[in-house]
Amino acid sequence: MKSLAPYACSNDTCKGRQFHEPCPEYRSEYQRDRDRIIHSSAFRRLEYKTQVFVNHEGDMFRTRLTHSIEVAQISRTIARILNLNEELAETIALAHDVGHTPFGHAGQDALNACMANYDGFEHNLQSLRVVDVLEQRYAEFDGLNLTFESREGIIKHCAIKKAASIGDVGERFLNHTQASLEAQLVDLADQIAYNNHDVDDGLRAGLISIKQLRKVMLFNDQYSQVIKQYPELPERRLIYEVTRRLINNQVVDLVETTKQNLIELNIKTLDDVRKQKQAIVQFSEQMSVEILSLKQFLRKELYQHYRVHRMSNKAKKIISNLFDAFMNDIKLLPPEHQQTVHHYQEQFGEKGQARVVSDYVAGMTDRFAITEYGRIFNPSELT
Ligand code: MG
Repeated sequence: MKSLAPYACSNDTCKGRQFHEPCPEYRSEYQRDRDRIIHSSAFRRLEYKTQVFVNHEGDMFRTRLTHSIEVAQISRTIARILNLNEELAETIALAHDVGHTPFGHAGQDALNACMANYDGFEHNLQSLRVVDVLEQRYAEFDGLNLTFESREGIIKHCAIKKAASIGDVGERFLNHTQASLEAQLVDLADQIAYNNHDVDDGLRAGLISIKQLRKVMLFNDQYSQVIKQYPELPERRLIYEVTRRLINNQVVDLVETTKQNLIELNIKTLDDVRKQKQAIVQFSEQMSVEILSLKQFLRKELYQHYRVHRMSNKAKKIISNLFDAFMNDIKLLPPEHQQTVHHYQEQFGEKGQARVVSDYVAGMTDRFAITEYGRIFNPSELT
C-alpha cells in the first residue's frame, strides 16, 4: 500500500472520540468507525428506505443501502488515487445517509414541516444524531462514539443557526474553514453516484427516455461515442455502458482538478486544507456546468414526474399523519419510546416529545411506515 499524503487524515492526526477508548489492537481508528457503522441498526434499515423509487416499486432500483455502497466505492477509488485515507472516506460514505427518513426527500420535507415549531428536521443533522445518540449498542456510551473526522464528514452541510448546537463538528460552519479532504471527496462522490444511478433507474422505470437525455450534453457525449463504437448493442447494455463511462468521466475530472488545486494552493498539511476558504476537492468549471444541467434535467423530468410526485404526495401524508397521531397520543408508541418521551418531556417539554416522535418516524423503513399507517388508521386492520 502506498503511504498517505501528508495532508490526509491518519491515526496520528486523529482528534479522537468523545469518550476515551484504547486504540484498536489490529485496526486503524477509521476501520473501527467503519465497522461500527456496518453493525449499526440504522445502516441495516437503509435497505428498505427509498432513494427515488419507493421500495415496493421493484427490486431492481437503488435503495439507500445500495446508493451508500456505490458512494463508498466511488469514494474509495478517489481516496486511493489521491493518497488520502481510504478507510475514513469509506466510513463517511457508508454513514452519510443513516439519518434519512423513509420515502426519500418527500419524507424529509414532510417531517421538517411537522417539526417546524420544534427546531425542524434535517437529515444531515439526523445522521449525526444517529451515530452520536440514537444507536444504543455499547455498554459504556450512547451512540457509536465515532472519531471527530468521521463525524465531521457526516455533517456535510449545516445551517449557521444550527451549527452552534452541534459542538466541535459545527465550528467550521461558523468560522468558514474546511473539512478534511476525505469529507470533501465523499460529498462529491455522493453527487456522482446519485446523478448517474438516477439516470439508470429513471430509464429503467420508463419515466425518462434516451431521446430526452440526448439533450443533456454530458450524457450525449458518452452516448454518441458508445453508439458509434457499438451500433448493435442492446439498449439495456448500452445504458450500462454509458453510465459506466459517465461515472468514470466525472471521477477523472474530479481527480485531475483536485490534484491541480492541491498544487496551486500549495497544500502541504491537514491544517492547510482546513484553512482554505473554499473546498479543494472540486470538479472543473466545465464539468460543474455540465453536471448542473444534468441535475436540472433530473429535477424537472424525473423527480417532478407525475408518477414520482404522486408517490411523494402519498408519502408525505403517511409521515405527517403518523407524526400527528404520535404527538396527540403517545400511547400509540411502543412502550420503550413512551419512556423516552417522558424522559425528554421532563427536560425539554413539548419540544422534547416532538424530537422523540421525529426520531421514531425518521428511523422507520418505507414498508414499516406503510404498515404502521395501516395499523393506526385503517379500521379493517384491528390488530
Ligand atoms: Mg446520498
